[in-house]
Amino acid sequence: MTFSDGTSADSDEPAGPQPVVAVVGRPNVGKSTLVNRIIGRRQAVVEDVPGVTRDRVPYDAQWNGRRFTVVDTGGWEPDARDRAAAIAAQAEIAVQTADVVVFVVDATIGATDMDEKAVRMLRRSAKPVILVANKADNQAVELEATSLWSLGLGEPHPISALHGRGSGDLLDAILAAMPPAPPIIEGGPRGPRRVALVGRPNVGKSSLLNRVAREERAVVDSVAGTTVDPVDSLVEMDGEIWQFVDTAGLRKRVNQASGTEYYASLRTAGAVEAAEVAVVLLDAAEVISEQDQRVLTQVVEAGRALVIAFNKWDLVDADRRFYLDKEIDRELKRIPWAIRVNISAKTGRAVDKLAPALRRALASWEKRIPTGALNQWLTALTQATPHPVRGGRAPRVLFATQAGVAPPRFVLFTTGPFDAGYQRFVERKLREEFGFEGSPVEVSVRPRK
Ligand code: GDP
Ligand code: GDP
Repeated sequence: MTFSDGTSADSDEPAGPQPVVAVVGRPNVGKSTLVNRIIGRRQAVVEDVPGVTRDRVPYDAQWNGRRFTVVDTGGWEPDARDRAAAIAAQAEIAVQTADVVVFVVDATIGATDMDEKAVRMLRRSAKPVILVANKADNQAVELEATSLWSLGLGEPHPISALHGRGSGDLLDAILAAMPPAPPIIEGGPRGPRRVALVGRPNVGKSSLLNRVAREERAVVDSVAGTTVDPVDSLVEMDGEIWQFVDTAGLRKRVNQASGTEYYASLRTAGAVEAAEVAVVLLDAAEVISEQDQRVLTQVVEAGRALVIAFNKWDLVDADRRFYLDKEIDRELKRIPWAIRVNISAKTGRAVDKLAPALRRALASWEKRIPTGALNQWLTALTQATPHPVRGGRAPRVLFATQAGVAPPRFVLFTTGPFDAGYQRFVERKLREEFGFEGSPVEVSVRPRK
């Protein structure tokens, strides 16, 4: 079992959100010990004192290549008061937001009244429940655990969270109860990075492609182990091979002849779709036009990493520079995160800045924030600046996970719907904290039903 700290982005990234597993049960049955075992490190707090309170804490876990989130809950006591009642409510919330519930019972004690009450709550939730008979440290206890069939939750899984006995089988059962894994998008070693070179006609796309090809003197036709579409170009930049997608038209310059905007936008859509990162060329000598905006929108909506290259910089004088800065503030304010480079395909100015900019954008695009760090930051943020009160209540964040990468997608589990403004605020702060320069970021809210 390996704990993923999120620093390495796997290529087998599932498309859907990470499944959530909630661990519930009476105080002291061994929930924290089990969570520790699942995540493979000692981080959850283990206390000997019954009823010691813990808030719902999510952790990243991984088993057999499947990533998921484990939520540790405090002890579930149905008739609890005050603090303990608050924990019970938290546990119920954890159950409601979970895909799979792991219900832990102490096998050395057997099912108690309190366990029976918990079972009723679990039935109401209609979630798949895995029954765990913990503290089955030896065969004698393991045998006794069979009496837990009486709870009506199916087969009890005897384990010893403390010593590890049975935990592999349990994890297999948890995985089997999860929603089916989305197909693996791409396996094996990754080919060259795919880049779309887009922009309205005459901004200098062909010139730039010719420039990088000539400058680097290394237009290659194939790379060992990869098949490259004949319409693409492989170009070496800064010691790395890059795949410029759908460039056949650029090289043959056929788009000049049939350069209607309709065909231009179709070509852009195709190239962006096939790429991981787009370089949008703008003509720095001319005002940013609606057509430029449409190209930028196509990239952002496709969820691709974005580098904006202001081309024809050789034509920019101090006067133009002044107005361009104002235009950028005004016209590009919805995408302040885009990486910008000022280049000249004609003179070769700063063309060497392109590869580092692409790498930075791609790193953001594939960045994964560990669940622990994400939730710590979010708790602090929402405490400092809570959601405004709506109809007498202020919706709160229960917890958050990163549902995917390329581009980064975050899901906030909340007590109610969020205002669009507050959602944007969270996204802005998320960018400030973790930095996603060059990549769109998606934040969605999943209110508790
Ligand atoms: P929680 O309140 O349900 O989170 O329970 P904890 O994880 O804090 O565990 C309560 C106590 O049970 C601790 O002293 C643990 O060391 C102990 N414990 C947990 N799992 C096992 C186990 O598999 N076998 C034995 N013998 N003790 C365990
Ligand atoms: P495309 O339609 O986007 O492929 O644009 P082209 O590469 O065909 O360039 C359109 C025109 O702009 C041509 O006349 C190029 O010579 C000119 N051009 C391209 N890049 C630059 C540049 O950096 N500076 C200047 N001054 N002209 C450029």
